[in-house]
Amino acid sequence: MKLMTGEEYIESIRRMRIEVYMMGKKIDNPVDDPILRPSLNSVRMTYDLAQKAEYEDLMTACDPDTGEKINRFNHIHRSTEDLVKKVKMQRLLGQKTASCFQRCVGMDAFNAIYSTAYETDKKYGTRYFENFKTFLRYVQENDLVVDGAMTDPKGDRSLSPHEQADPDLYLRVVERRPDGIVVRGAKAHQTGILNSHEVCIMPTVAMGPEDKDYAVSFAVPVDTKGIFLIIGRQSCDTRKLEGGTIDVGNAEFGGVEALVVFEDVFVPNERIFLNGETEFAGMLVERFAGYHRQSYGGCKVGVGDVLIGAAAVAAEYNGCAKASHIKDKLIEMTHLNETLYSCGIACSCEGNKTESGNYIINLLLANVCKQNVTRFPYEIVRLAEDIAGGILVTAPSEKDLRDPVLGKVVEKYLKGVASVSTEDRLRILRLIENLALGSAAVGYRTESMHGAGSPQAQRIMIARQGNMAAKKELAKTLAGIKDRKNS
Ligand code: SF4
Ligand code: FE
Repeated sequence: MKLMTGEEYIESIRRMRIEVYMMGKKIDNPVDDPILRPSLNSVRMTYDLAQKAEYEDLMTACDPDTGEKINRFNHIHRSTEDLVKKVKMQRLLGQKTASCFQRCVGMDAFNAIYSTAYETDKKYGTRYFENFKTFLRYVQENDLVVDGAMTDPKGDRSLSPHEQADPDLYLRVVERRPDGIVVRGAKAHQTGILNSHEVCIMPTVAMGPEDKDYAVSFAVPVDTKGIFLIIGRQSCDTRKLEGGTIDVGNAEFGGVEALVVFEDVFVPNERIFLNGETEFAGMLVERFAGYHRQSYGGCKVGVGDVLIGAAAVAAEYNGCAKASHIKDKLIEMTHLNETLYSCGIACSCEGNKTESGNYIINLLLANVCKQNVTRFPYEIVRLAEDIAGGILVTAPSEKDLRDPVLGKVVEKYLKGVASVSTEDRLRILRLIENLALGSAAVGYRTESMHGAGSPQAQRIMIARQGNMAAKKELAKTLAGIKDRKNS
């Protein structure tokens, strides 16, 4: 199997015919669009790093079924070591891009579907596991990017899928044919789908028997007839149209999300991984969410590394790097960031083998990881803003800096320490702004809150997995409380 180079990947996306809209217009060439291109560059990094000998161990893996070298993003985890390497790979990519590199959702979907399809087949005699393995082999052989799509629009949150006033608010099967199914609905907040070759659909909630039509999982190419994307806005996204490199903060990399609509899309039988077996919907959701909550203990930490470094540089440029409170704030940021990493590593080390043979993280620890991610990046950003100073949000534009008259004024009055150019000072401040408030804040802040499930979703899992009964027994034993029915 051949690993694609970054350039080959870009060209492979260029050949696709994805129907995409942004700001009310159809985008015919998303690959070269200035607002969208940075997100493609981020995914490209998953290919570029896989070509480098120094990163081979993290970025690639050997598939035991074929003996072939594949990109780790297309790997089924076969050990706790694989789970650990996944987190390290994500931290590395966060460091290199300071953004969401998008390819993890497919990897997390693969591993969740792999074990769930196996167990569904065991109960129902279906052939979803074989279907999935054939699909995965195709993905590995062609080194593709696959978007893992879970989140339905959900309409009235108090109602189950079949109770919604509009039945399309959860993606569903609208027709069953001898050769496949026809589906309708949408998936919201889809990270990276624009830069993906295929999309892998999963249900978004546990379901009862009446939700049969909604318990569906499958994969299709993103440019399949009937699928179209509406790109989500990011804060400051139109700065990318201004032509400079300073005000965008991170000129090369970014993320992208979209609302993806399925208008009566045909899915052939061999691409179906779940179709009506409602009791397995919850298992699939729980496992995917668990893997993606582990992921955040890698990617957000890598981005955090960049932000901490940027804050330290800003302090130097301001001439206050030696102040004890600045040093202490940088220590606190590091402590918080490494705590997230510790959670990502811990839930990987404590993983276990599923019936299908792949490895799953420790679900309790993965949920603790993500719960911390809903908080710590906010504190890290707060401290970065504290260190950077108000100039973070009041600095004049790059155009002012470049202006023959105003430029001299900006140069003179926005100077920090004499040895550093005003331009470099502005560059580091804009990078912090990008991560704290700009387009990267989608991935570093709000996605830290809601991506892979909102905080309450983790608390439900923590309650379920926390084994309170055992803890109570420990306490009763030590307190000398014996066998009384007074718990
Ligand atoms: Fe990967 Fe993180 Fe983006 Fe999810 S949020 S796709 S884990 S980089
Ligand atoms: Fe995410």
